[in-house]
Amino acid sequence: MKIKNQDFLKKENLILVLKMISDYGPISRAEISKQTDMSPTSASRIVALLSEKNLIEEVAINHQNVGRKANYFRLNKKGIYFIGVELDKSYLRVGLMNFDEELIFKKTVEMRETDPNMVVKQIVDEIYELKNNFDLIDNLIFGLCVGIPGIIEPEKGIVSFSVQMQWENTPLGDILHERLGLPVKVDNELKLKALSEYKFCDDDVEHLIILGFGSGVGSALISHGDINRGKSNFAGEIGHTIVDPNGACCPCGNFGCLQTYIAEPFLLNEAAKIKRIDSLEELILHAENGEIWAKKLILKAIKYASIAINNTVCSFNPDLVILSGSLIENHPYIQNLLLKEYEDTIWSPAHNSFDVEITKTKDEGVILGAAIRMKNHFIENIHL
Ligand SMILES: [Zn+2]
Repeated sequence: MKIKNQDFLKKENLILVLKMISDYGPISRAEISKQTDMSPTSASRIVALLSEKNLIEEVAINHQNVGRKANYFRLNKKGIYFIGVELDKSYLRVGLMNFDEELIFKKTVEMRETDPNMVVKQIVDEIYELKNNFDLIDNLIFGLCVGIPGIIEPEKGIVSFSVQMQWENTPLGDILHERLGLPVKVDNELKLKALSEYKFCDDDVEHLIILGFGSGVGSALISHGDINRGKSNFAGEIGHTIVDPNGACCPCGNFGCLQTYIAEPFLLNEAAKIKRIDSLEELILHAENGEIWAKKLILKAIKYASIAINNTVCSFNPDLVILSGSLIENHPYIQNLLLKEYEDTIWSPAHNSFDVEITKTKDEGVILGAAIRMKNHFIENIHL
């Protein structure tokens, strides 16, 4: 308790040390002090406090150069836990992540209906069940973050607008906080997925863009680990960039929005003019089997998806572009076509300036990203 009241123990220093251990651990006291410009005494005292609170743990590592053991610190993975939730109109996914960003549990259930009260009830039921299953760590669960497709006010936890869920100005964060008594964050699902992809990319990647081609079209940019939000958090909504003012009508009221050439509902609408198709999978299968009309429709979508890659790369100059969404994931046929097509479409000065990868996190991306967002919130607001 004496340590707690010392003047040097500024909140900023505490956050800095915890971030350092989270990002670079196992790390020694000396290295923490050097990297943070903190005196060895201050660094050691903060390390002692974090150990006392079970948030970090000591590991002995053989120091190769001098042949002696030095004490290093890393996060205690069992120190605190975070819940990530993904909402979609047809399913609800819940995940539990430890402090070391490992997903230790995940579950997907069918969404019964999209009425906000029913959705809240379903989320609350699932979280109570999760807490029962993990009885021992119930009181170590810090909070949860929910990822939803749509325009979100992340500071207020309000879903301003979600076409998929048919929600408008829904104060989801407040309602869930009231029901669960835990801190709650709400965010756009693709922005959260970008956070989890950033976790798995090479250390030298500074600017990562994720593109989502599914029931809509969107993108999200991570720069130096932070989500690029813009003023009203809709930075990256490329689905509504206009690519042909004489194009098809988009539900937003404009003509020729990018998503009208690529997104699932529009592709199925076009397909229906030729043949009744129930799913994107069915359409892709027809194309793979060589049905000309289906192939033409897919190739047109691929062309516009390449334009989407080109336009976002020209706008943001990323190191890495991640391709995701139901059109891409689990469809090597589409992946191969797109990976070839974008090479022909990309602006020549941007050629070879970035890498393109298929999503690594797939269906875990949103829940993991949501839990990481909550972990970052915990660290940035820590008080011991
Ligand atoms: Zn539109």
